[in-house]
Amino acid sequence: MATTVKLNTGAQMPILGLGTWKSPPGKVTEAVKAAISAGYRHIDGAFVYQNEAEVGEGVQAAIKDGVVKREDLFIVSKLWCTFHAKSLVRQACEKTLSDLKMDYIDLYLIHWPMGFKAGTELFPLDSAGEVISDDTYFLETWEAMEELVDAGLVKAIGVSNFNKEQIEAILNKPSLKYKPATNQVECHPYLTQEKLIDYCHSKGISVTAYSPLGSPDRPWAKPEDPSLLEDPNIKAIAEKHKKTSAQVLIRFHIQRNVIVIPKSVTPERIQENFKVFDFELTEEEIKTILGFSRNWRVCPMQWALKHKDYPFNAEF
Ligand code: NAP
Repeated sequence: MATTVKLNTGAQMPILGLGTWKSPPGKVTEAVKAAISAGYRHIDGAFVYQNEAEVGEGVQAAIKDGVVKREDLFIVSKLWCTFHAKSLVRQACEKTLSDLKMDYIDLYLIHWPMGFKAGTELFPLDSAGEVISDDTYFLETWEAMEELVDAGLVKAIGVSNFNKEQIEAILNKPSLKYKPATNQVECHPYLTQEKLIDYCHSKGISVTAYSPLGSPDRPWAKPEDPSLLEDPNIKAIAEKHKKTSAQVLIRFHIQRNVIVIPKSVTPERIQENFKVFDFELTEEEIKTILGFSRNWRVCPMQWALKHKDYPFNAEF
C-alpha cells in the first residue's frame, strides 16, 4: 500500500498527516516533534488555528536535531476567509511563512469557498450572528493563489470545503493556469463522501479527509451527538484486526486512496495513529463501513448558511 498520493503537480503527498486544529499553542510544538519522530512527514495547519508559529517551532526543532530535512516534509496551510480579496492573498501567505519560519509551503488551500469581510476579526458577525461576507468570488482568489506558485512561495495550491459545482467552476475558468491539487473535506464513516471523492478523483484531484475520528474535541460537541470512536460496529471491526477504533477510522481512508489527517497532541495517540500500514480491511468491511453514512457533519459552518458561496446545500 502506497504511503503517498501523487498530486497532479507530480509531487508525492504523504497519505497520512498530523492535524493541528485546536492543538493548544503550548502543546503543539511537542506534538509536531513527536509526530516527526514517529514517522509523520505531513503536517496540516492553517492561519485560523492560531498556532502556526508553534507548529513551525516543532518542525524547526526536528530539522535542527537532524531527524529530517525540510525537503522530507510536506507542510500544508490554508488561506482564511477574511483574505479572499486578490490584494490580500500574498500577504496572508507571507504571514504564514514567517510564522512557520519557512521559505515555501508544499500545499496552500483556500480554506472555505466563502469570503468574509476583511479585517482583524476572523469571524466578523452581524447582530443576528450571521457572518458578514465580502464580494470576492473564489475564482478571483484562485488567480492570486496561482501567483503564489509562480512566485515560489508555495509548491501547490488546492481548495477545502468546495462542492462539486465549485470545483467545476475552477476547472472551467477561462485561462486557468493550475488545477487544484486537492480538495480537503470532512470525511469519515458518518459522512463517506462517495460521490465527491469519485468526482474529484475522476478529475485528477486528490481528496484529503478531515475530522477522520469525528473530532470529539470540536467546541460545539453535544453529549447526544454520535461518536465514531465509541461506535460498537467500528469497535467490532477493530477487535477483529487487534487494532483500535482510531486505527480502523484512519485505515478506511488509506484504502480509498484518500489522504487523512488525524489530530492529536498526545504522543501515545500520535504513535498509535501512525500504525496503520500493517493491516488491511477487507472489501466487505469497507462496504460495511460505507453503510454507516448518515450525512452527519462536524463542521457545518453554521454562521455562514446564508452566504452565497455556502457549499453544503448542494447534494455533493
Ligand atoms: P479528529 O482528528 O477527527 O479528532 C481529534 C480528536 O481525537 C482529539 O480530541 C484527539 O485528542 C482525539 N484523538 C486522536 N487520536 C486518538 C486516538 N488514537 N484515540 C482516541 N482519541 C484520539 O478531529 P479534527 O481535529 O477536527 O480533524 C483533524 C484535522 O483536520 C484538524 O486538526 C485540521 O488539521 C483538519 N481540519 C480541517 C478543516 C477544514 O475546514 N479544512 C476542518 C476541520 C479539521 P488529543 O489531541 O487530546 O489526543
